[in-house]
Amino acid sequence: MTALPPELSTPTILAATRDGAGLSSDQIAAFIGGVVRGTVSRAQAAAWLGFVYNRGLSDEATVALTDVMTRSGDLLSWPAEGGPIVDKHSTGGVGDKVSLVLAPLWAELGFRVPMISGRGLAHTGGTLDKLESIPGFRCDLDIIELQAVLAEVGCFISGQTSELAPADRFLYALRDETQTVASEPLVTSSILSKKLAEGLDRLVLDVKFGSGAFFKSRAAAEALARRLEAVSGALGTPARALLTPMNEPLGEAVGNALEVEESIRCLRGDGPDDLHNLVVRLADHPDADAVLRSGRALGRFERMVAAQGGDLSAPLKGSSDVVEHVVEAPCGGTVTAVDALSVGRAAFRLGAGRAKAGEPVHHGVGVRVHTAIGRAVVSGEPVFTVVHARKGLDEALALLRQGLTVVPG
Ligand code: URA
Repeated sequence: MTALPPELSTPTILAATRDGAGLSSDQIAAFIGGVVRGTVSRAQAAAWLGFVYNRGLSDEATVALTDVMTRSGDLLSWPAEGGPIVDKHSTGGVGDKVSLVLAPLWAELGFRVPMISGRGLAHTGGTLDKLESIPGFRCDLDIIELQAVLAEVGCFISGQTSELAPADRFLYALRDETQTVASEPLVTSSILSKKLAEGLDRLVLDVKFGSGAFFKSRAAAEALARRLEAVSGALGTPARALLTPMNEPLGEAVGNALEVEESIRCLRGDGPDDLHNLVVRLADHPDADAVLRSGRALGRFERMVAAQGGDLSAPLKGSSDVVEHVVEAPCGGTVTAVDALSVGRAAFRLGAGRAKAGEPVHHGVGVRVHTAIGRAVVSGEPVFTVVHARKGLDEALALLRQGLTVVPG
């Protein structure tokens, strides 16, 4: 075995990252290669993440990091014939069920959409958990099945296979353990490595800001959006990032099965305006609005669900063992806050989300939101319906009351 040049040794790379001295692409490739092969220890990897968190990384180094993470596993590829390959990533929020609507809408517009999605953690829901409310729906398709569903339907929504961007899987878990998640270069490389491994022609990013978002400030979200566009473009996949607010929940439903029902309404052309309009903006196609209003994309969704084993004629999971509790406005006036984080936490307390990876979720529970910022309410008017399974109701009610602000008058 030939010895590594000294500048590529792990101690040298660690010291340079710690001192903010700048890393070459070769150094990044050597270090991440060592992480994946196991020649860089967990302690060294954790220390490196801490240094990046504190010191940042240049654009060039972030491009190199994203590239090596993307190439750490399989690179998906699709037949040349057919529409352009597109996908969307959202940094996550409360009631964000856009993927369930956008994937079939894009397919209806002639694109191919190989959407690899994730599960929920803490107060934000996960697309896969929502879809698994549909009895039989499978999110663990292998590559042969993914190819078949994409060819047959034009879209799929499935989970990350063990072979897709394994460097991110390892680093993300370590970031979670070491409080180094909220770092712009680490978030950029993590998001993009999984998306670029999907073999896309174009990527759309929905970067949220506000109380229920990962980045609370608009400025931080804006910086992330620009960096995501720049890094993706530098690696050959044009990306467009939208900045969208997440101060109040998106749509009216928060919770797995409730969000599937609302997505179906939206696909029928009858969804809440904020959800409909965001899907149309992200779709970025002149016919998106008309096609979504026509209800044609619902047929595409039904075909996708059937191709992934789901049965939409059966009741959604968890929907038979829940009870409803209505929360009324404490006074009349104008609603000035329906805090997304409070509503997300309320749904979490009811069992809609998980605290740790691998925990089960309750598919039926959640919150229906009947009001929105800027709306007038009268005293006693229903503002939330809590759908619960006799667990966490009191905590959820306290969170919802705390999250709602009505200015009298
Ligand atoms: N989502 C990801 O996939 N990675 C991050 O680092 C943050 C959000």
